[in-house]
Amino acid sequence: SELSTTIMERIRDVPDYPQPGVLFKDITPLLGDPVAFAAVVDELAGLHDVDKIVGIEARGFILGAPVAYRTGAGFVPVRKKGKLPAPTLAESYELEYGTATVEVHHDAFTPGDRVLIVDDVLATGGTAAATVELVRRAGGEVVCFAVLMELAFLKGRERLTGVEIRSLVIV
Ligand code: IMP
Repeated sequence: SELSTTIMERIRDVPDYPQPGVLFKDITPLLGDPVAFAAVVDELAGLHDVDKIVGIEARGFILGAPVAYRTGAGFVPVRKKGKLPAPTLAESYELEYGTATVEVHHDAFTPGDRVLIVDDVLATGGTAAATVELVRRAGGEVVCFAVLMELAFLKGRERLTGVEIRSLVIV
């Protein structure tokens, strides 16, 4: 589609970031284009009628907050361990080397809240799967997980069975 092309043309490949051998997808050119950024926010806002938008630290905040505003939903941050001030629920997941932990405030949802989770890139799916689990444990109903770009060769989708996934671009 036209939107996919707009997005693809504004995501930059950065070699060897954050580590040698990794080709990082950088969305800052897209964010800096007001027409493209607004089109992405409008597309994400039109996906589902939800009560809460969850944004995954940090680029999920940039995308998720305007989607929440646009839809009239609340915004809930899912953050890396130790960043949220009040009592949290935590979920850990495996990385290539070691583990990572994401957290959400224990009272972030009203039971049964319909939730759209937003992030920039779906890679191995570890972050997304942990976030889905966290939202469910905290009482939210995950309606959809949406990203700008899905890196299909990393098979993240396979770790999210039973979750609707919307990727505006699949590479
Ligand atoms: P995963 O857990 O391997 O799916 O990695 C997804 C998480 O890491 C998301 O929160 C992304 O923001 C981030 N991430 C992984 N690869 C990239 C990339 O190439 N560009 C931007 N973010 C990435």
